[in-house]
Amino acid sequence: MNKKITLIPGDGIGPEVAQGAVQTLKKVGEKFGHNFGIETVLAGGCAIDACGQALPSETLESCKVSDAVLLGAIGGWKWDNLPGDKRPETALLQLRKELSLFAALRPALLFEDLADACPLKPEIIEGGLDLLVVRELTGGIYYGERGYKETALGKAAYDIELYSEGEVRRIAHVAFSMAMKRKRHVTSVDKANVLESSRLWREVVTQVSKEYPEVTLNHLYVDNAAMQLVRSPRQFDVILTGNLFGDILSDEASVITGSIGMLPSANLSESGFGMYEPVHGSAPDIADQDKANPMAMILSVAMMLRYTFGLTQEADCVENAVKSVLKLGYRTPDIYKEGTSQKLVGTKESIRLITDKL
Ligand code: NAD
Repeated sequence: MNKKITLIPGDGIGPEVAQGAVQTLKKVGEKFGHNFGIETVLAGGCAIDACGQALPSETLESCKVSDAVLLGAIGGWKWDNLPGDKRPETALLQLRKELSLFAALRPALLFEDLADACPLKPEIIEGGLDLLVVRELTGGIYYGERGYKETALGKAAYDIELYSEGEVRRIAHVAFSMAMKRKRHVTSVDKANVLESSRLWREVVTQVSKEYPEVTLNHLYVDNAAMQLVRSPRQFDVILTGNLFGDILSDEASVITGSIGMLPSANLSESGFGMYEPVHGSAPDIADQDKANPMAMILSVAMMLRYTFGLTQEADCVENAVKSVLKLGYRTPDIYKEGTSQKLVGTKESIRLITDKL
């Protein structure tokens, strides 16, 4: 198979973990006889420094003509004082919109060998944890009308949450289709006791559920969902939610798997085109110190192989390599526990160990 992949290493730990993606693809290509052509481009803070724009047009063009996009992470302290519309993270929002990536899949899987890194009590996670957050990514409050106005109490700011039936319907179909391949249960999360937009969300999700009689559906308010995630996370299979609630809940779900450095994600369009990225950000606090966990990035490569290229065996091979390295006790600092037989390794060594197992 010949595939062209655009790689955006980005800022902070992005370029460090992106090396994990490059080396994984090289090894998978050699082992299974594929040719993965990788074009590396700029976006985010590094692109602002190089050419004054968070998303240069050449980067967008490269993404549009590729078969898939891999992204490290974007942003950092250096650019924190720029105005909102000039910040590095605008590149992410633009990429999602321009590439029509309306569906974010964020699996939260607790690896057996990482059970001790989970902050929840052992009895809560007994039997393991495996849930999938399906988050709407190109609508809602992050893309709604925003602005300032004068009020009697001074300057006021607003951001509008707006969802159309069509937007809710297409993300609901993604969630129900995913549930069909899993434990056949969808929990839709909203705030329908307060928000009109949530009441429409709930109505449309309920309509779509009729097309999937094998899948059970329940609805939770977001405050309850946030609580249930730490009290009884095993009740969840697929969590379906909007952009804002999904942002928060998927980060919460990530923590219960031990470390945000373990979590991959896929952002998909209707055609199946995808941008794959770790859930974590650019972690400026540990950048350039060989401390970043590259597993989320490498597991994002596995998701790309599985979902966009249909290479199931290759994806399994990458996931198994990560599991083997964990089983052997190698840990980057975020998942390392002192006083155990675990072996502390840096980013580069972790990448070497994983690619050796492929
Ligand atoms: P973050 O995810 O970068 O870091 C949160 C914490 O998790 C930090 O303590 C960090 O050290 C740790 N961490 C993150 N990834 C890790 C890894 N792979 N290995 C070990 N530890 C890891 O979130 P933040 O600090 O809120 O944001 C930092 C910057 O990243 C901000 O500029 C933010 O806007 C940006 N950001 C970008 C993305 C993205 O590119 N998709 C996502 C989230 C945040």
